[in-house]
Amino acid sequence: MSDRQRIAIIGGGLCGLTCAIRLAEHDVDIDLFEAAPAPGGRTRSFFDTRVNQWVDNGPHLLVGAYHRTQRLLEEAGANQYIHWQPSLELPLWDAGRGHFQLVPPPHLPLALAMPWACLRLPGHHMDSATALLRLAMANRKSMASGIDAQTTVHDWLQQIDVPEALIRDLLEPLCLGAMNETIQSANARSFSLVLREAFNSHACARLGWFTQPLSKALVEPLVRLAKSRGVRIHTSIRIKELNEHDHKVHIKTGSACEKFDAAIIALPARARNRLLNMHAKIETRCITNIHFWLADTEALPRPMIGGIGTTGQWFFDVSQQMPEQTESPYRHICAVISADQRDASRQQRISKVCRELQEIMGRKSPLKPDHLRMVREFHATTQVRAGQSNIRLSECIIDASEAPLPGEFPATIEAAVIRGEQAAKHCQSFLNT
Ligand SMILES: Cc1cc2nc3c(=O)[nH]c(=O)nc-3n(C[C@H](O)[C@H](O)[C@H](O)COP(=O)(O)OP(=O)(O)OC[C@H]3O[C@@H](n4cnc5c(N)ncnc54)[C@H](O)[C@@H]3O)c2cc1C
Repeated sequence: MSDRQRIAIIGGGLCGLTCAIRLAEHDVDIDLFEAAPAPGGRTRSFFDTRVNQWVDNGPHLLVGAYHRTQRLLEEAGANQYIHWQPSLELPLWDAGRGHFQLVPPPHLPLALAMPWACLRLPGHHMDSATALLRLAMANRKSMASGIDAQTTVHDWLQQIDVPEALIRDLLEPLCLGAMNETIQSANARSFSLVLREAFNSHACARLGWFTQPLSKALVEPLVRLAKSRGVRIHTSIRIKELNEHDHKVHIKTGSACEKFDAAIIALPARARNRLLNMHAKIETRCITNIHFWLADTEALPRPMIGGIGTTGQWFFDVSQQMPEQTESPYRHICAVISADQRDASRQQRISKVCRELQEIMGRKSPLKPDHLRMVREFHATTQVRAGQSNIRLSECIIDASEAPLPGEFPATIEAAVIRGEQAAKHCQSFLNT
């Protein structure tokens, strides 16, 4: 064994992998422990034998404002697996208006392009455009810092007098997409940060998606990069105990107990609390993904469509997004129900979404999927809440868990990467003292 300092990272999701990659830039020994048989955490894929395909637990969207994620993926050689829109286009659908889309013209500054694009949405008038300008003013950093930590997005939008139509067609879908929470309970401070970052420029506002399943597009490149820097990744090891004494962290890794100079907890707050026997309440939200495989079915008009007033909030044409899958005889469409707190049976969810998809596709006959799979991630995101902050356990145990506070980024890919990088920095400066 070398006499270099030893660090343990607990959790092999994006946060843990990022932390490992960043720490491995320094002269330290790193062991990463992952409870599941493979790293990846909530960004994972499974193999569906019926269609002979790797399938994501749920489609993951990226935003141009995810700067740290983009830098990391570039380093890992994974940016080739992302398709970026040239500039923001948000295709939408509802039962009354059919298909329409928000397209801010790229030649105008975004601050003007957004109100212009809103004016062109069916059912919108000058009040939507002027409300967007008011919102932009209220969202300037200096003003937004005055939003009370407990204020919900709904109450904040009421204070700014944003018309219902703008909330329904733009702000509610954005809130569901970015925060996995309805405006009634989502935190306004964090939502305002999301808006500020995403609408900073055309490049920040555009959307991106993976052109390969997450395991190949995201997880494998990060694992390769981590291993190439000497990180040891141990899978199927759930850490159940860790203690600090004599300035060392003692971790039970299966039957052995190993000593480390520092440990980083890269878990969702629920898992952290279980590990540390803490009983604080942590609020999470579910995401339900319903995957359909349909033979002889035309593409959706766009690779992704937001549903307004629908049960499925997003409809992803996965076959269009992942062109390699065109070999398959089936069209793969995934309907996403964000913040799914509904009291509905599996069959009710499927029937509703099937009917919506039929209308979106403009089909007369009911959809008859050749294969269907519903994946429910009950704790898909840890919600932004006051008082669940990362905890300081000791100098050598660093908490990088997902527990966003008001004013911080909600639980997203970018937030996981930021937490991983911050924990690596923190750990490095601790080791240097
Ligand atoms: C269906 C779905 C759709 C999403 N869509 C988007 C999206 O479109 N855009 C976006 O930005 N974000 C999206 N997210 C959120 C994003 O996936 C997560 O915020 C991010 O992946 C969290 O990474 P993490 O490393 O913090 O946590 P995790 O990915 O949860 O990683 C934690 C890891 O720790 C492991 N673990 C747990 N306990 C232990 C233990 N005791 N010992 C060892 N290992 C342990 C777990 O197995 C897991 O692998 C989505 C999430 C889901 C579920």
